[in-house]
Amino acid sequence: MTHPRANIPDNLCPVATELSGMLPGDWRAMRPVVDRDKCVKCAVCWMFCPVQCIKEMPAWFDVNYATCKGCGICANECPHRAIAMVEEPQA
Ligand code: SF4
Ligand code: SF4
Repeated sequence: MTHPRANIPDNLCPVATELSGMLPGDWRAMRPVVDRDKCVKCAVCWMFCPVQCIKEMPAWFDVNYATCKGCGICANECPHRAIAMVEEPQA
């Protein structure tokens, strides 16, 4: 038996919304900036980021700006106040 919705095209999600090629870095209003001198690599930001866009660098943790959505959770949770949220430049 064929499922009644088996003919859904590959480019539609289950709620039939067209997928977009945009990444959060294309529309983000604020971006987190890590102060490398303050970062102690505790990884708290990495644990709290809801989209796994914190990456480990040799001496600090940094942000993947393509996928970061600018929610600010990492800045709120950093116990060393090493992350500042700054406005993105206006296009
Ligand atoms: S939470 Fe703050 S101090 Fe800890 S790794 Fe992230 S930026 Fe560095
Ligand atoms: S602003 Fe949000 S999405 Fe971006 S790195 Fe911080 S927690 Fe992750």
